[in-house]
Parts: sequence; structure tokens; C-alpha cells
Amino acid sequence: MFRKSVWVLALVFVTFFFAGAGYLACRPQWVYAVTVDSELIGHVASLEEFCAIVSSVQCRAEEYWGCSLAMNEEVKAFRVRRWNLQPSPVAVAARLEDMATYTARGWAIVVDAEPVALLDSRSAAEEVLEAVKAAYLPKGSNRTLVSAEFQEEVTIESVPVDPRSVMEKDAALSLLLSGEAELKTYVVQRGDTLPGIARAHNTSLERLRQANPGLKGDTIQVGQVLNLERSNALLHVKTVEDLRVTETIPRPVRYTANPDMSVRHDIVLKSGSDGKREVVYRVEKVNGKEVRRRQISSTVTRAPETKEVMTGIGYWPARPTGMFRFPLNSGKITSKFGVVRPTGPHRGVDIAAPKGTPIYAAADGIVRTRAYSKSYGYYVELEHSDGYSTLYAHVSRIDSSVQVGKKVVRGQVIAWVGSTGFSTGPHLHWEVQRYDNLLNPMNFFAD
Ligand SMILES: [Zn+2]
Repeated sequence: MFRKSVWVLALVFVTFFFAGAGYLACRPQWVYAVTVDSELIGHVASLEEFCAIVSSVQCRAEEYWGCSLAMNEEVKAFRVRRWNLQPSPVAVAARLEDMATYTARGWAIVVDAEPVALLDSRSAAEEVLEAVKAAYLPKGSNRTLVSAEFQEEVTIESVPVDPRSVMEKDAALSLLLSGEAELKTYVVQRGDTLPGIARAHNTSLERLRQANPGLKGDTIQVGQVLNLERSNALLHVKTVEDLRVTETIPRPVRYTANPDMSVRHDIVLKSGSDGKREVVYRVEKVNGKEVRRRQISSTVTRAPETKEVMTGIGYWPARPTGMFRFPLNSGKITSKFGVVRPTGPHRGVDIAAPKGTPIYAAADGIVRTRAYSKSYGYYVELEHSDGYSTLYAHVSRIDSSVQVGKKVVRGQVIAWVGSTGFSTGPHLHWEVQRYDNLLNPMNFFAD
């Protein structure tokens, strides 16, 4: 009896043991279902595991893009009871990594209300803008910056962006400076010519010049960097700078007339010297190109010294006897004897001189004519010895002592230079005749 009941007890115990173990092994478990935008992607064992997976996926993405990111999709975990299910954290992580997209917090450089470049931080955007300005700051110790500002309205704004559109600083700088993310340039080699470079890069000489406004003519130097594309700058920097330069003040020249010297000679009495002045110009530029310049100060640091020149105005008699005196003490021969004109060959010489310059009798003689004619204006004709006569035309005034039949002596003032009659300006028209044949007056004079 005892044995039997032991067996029954043992049976009950074993039955309960296996049933309990079976229940324990097969009962539904609490796990966490993970969804991405409501789509189930797997299960994990705990909330801690869920959080660790999400944050590690995001960390890897941030490490890849190099900036902080916000995941666009909604990722959730909720507790569920499941029969016979093993959580699969590795699969969940892989699935999430595939599906996740991100938005970065970017910083846009906004030009006239239009975002033109995206950077990953405000400081990077500020650095790029400073670099754009710096590209146009004056270079050289004789230039001082007064101001530099953008002509466009420029702001930096925080915006959500696709991390793929965030730019490197260099690319953003190039874009703002030239309109291209990468500026195409060419370094001049030995033997290059501007037309040759244009041909080699399938561009025209005209476009090459436009892309390089700093070029002087077609002159290029080995090592010089040329832009191959025309700059299409998105930003324009207006700079104002003071430019200090030393300028030369040309020496003034003072002429002294000497009737005792031939008209063909000048003597430099004092060479003089050029002066110097320090001038400050306020120069306005847009993207390095000068648009306006005005002088704001000028200081003479060395006064110029006058050059003094003695200039000959004398004419010498060609013959030892000195048949004629030149009728003016100064003047310039503007038309020679015999020059053919519509009215015929020129009958004398024209000597330009200011109105009122005294006219001297070329030799002793008797006044033959004192008259006015349409072509000569007021004129005087003198009769000399040996068949010679002289005529003085276009005069402004005739001396009252000069009357027909009256004697005049060599060097006597008989009239004054004018522009009467057919004349285009004050000058003396002077004729020499012998027995009514016209002679070249200059044949009577030497250098
Ligand atoms: Zn004339």
C-alpha cells in the first residue's frame, strides 16, 4: 500500500514537473515590437535595447555626415506578448539603418533673400563671408582700407537641410566669388600667348579678357594665374580705400625771347627740376574693380624748379650789307613764299604775332602806298633804292607819320600787327619786290 501511494505521488510529481517546465518553456513572452513609420521591422527584448539601437544608428550617421542630424522617420517600440519568439536586435538595427533618412541643421548664407550656400555651422558661414571680403581687401602698404561691405543683403540663417547639400568652406567660397563651386584657372607657361590659351581652352579671346579684368593689354607672365571662366560672382564687395602715391609735378618752362639769336636756336639757361607731391586718392572698388576715384589730399613735398630757355627770335641779314631788317622782332613764320593756294601762289611770307606787335620798316625808303583793300586790309608799301619795294599787310593800325611820299628810316615803327582784310588771325603778310617782280623775302635772311 505504502509502495503504491509512493508511486502515485511520484507520478503526480513528475507530471506536475513536466507540465510546469513545459509551461515555463512555451508560455507567451513580453517583448518590444519596433516600428518605423508604423511599419514593423522586428522585435527587441527591452526598452533599453531599443534606445541603444536607435542611438547607435543615429551616431553612425552623424559620424558619416560629420554633423548633428534629426531622423525624419518616426521610430517606436511597444510591449507585446508573443509565443515562441526570439528578439532580433541585430536585424532591427540593420533594417533601421536602411530605412532612416535625416535632416541636418544647416546654416544658409542668404543673399538678397535667396539661400546660396549651406554650411554646417554658423561659424563656418561667417568664416566664408569674411574670406569673400578678404579676397578684395587692398594689398600693398600704400593702401589703407576705409570700409568693406557687401552690396547685397547678406544674412546667415539656420535651416533644416539634407546633409548631402552641406558644402565645404572652400567650395562655398569659390561659389560666392565666381558663381562656380570650382573655379577653372590656368597657370601661364613659357611661350604661351593669350590667343593661344584661348584656343587651347575652347574659349574666345574676348571671353578670356572678360574673365580677367586685371589684364593689361595682351601681356601675360609665366606663372600668372588666369581665370578660364568669366566670374559670375554671387556677392559683390564694395571696398573704399585710401591710396597714397607720389606724383611728379612737371617743371614749368619759362621762355625768354632774344632777338639777337636765330629763330632756329634755343639755349637752356637752367634745366630746372620736376617737383614731387604726395597725393591721397579715395578709391572705390566693386569686387576689386575700380569704379570711382577722387583726390582727397595733395601735399607738395618738393617744389618744381622752373626750366629757363632763351629762345631766338632774330633773323640775320644774309648779305654783309644787311639790305633788310626783319620787319618784326618776334613771331613765327606760318606760311612761306610761293605756297600754292586757291588764289594763286603766296605772294610773301606770313609771320604770326600778337595783335599790336610793332612792325618796323625793313629799310630806308619812301611811302608809296597807305591804303585799305579787301584782301590786304590796311597795308603799307615802301619804295627802297635799287628797284626794291616792300609791302606790309593786314595791319591793325598805320602810324600817322607814314604818309604817301614821306620818308621812313630803317627800323622805324610804321604800323602794328593786326588781322584786317582776308586774314584768319593776327599776322603780318610781308612781300618783297624788285621792279615789280615778287621775291622770296626769306632769301634776304640767314639762320
Ligand atoms: Zn600772306
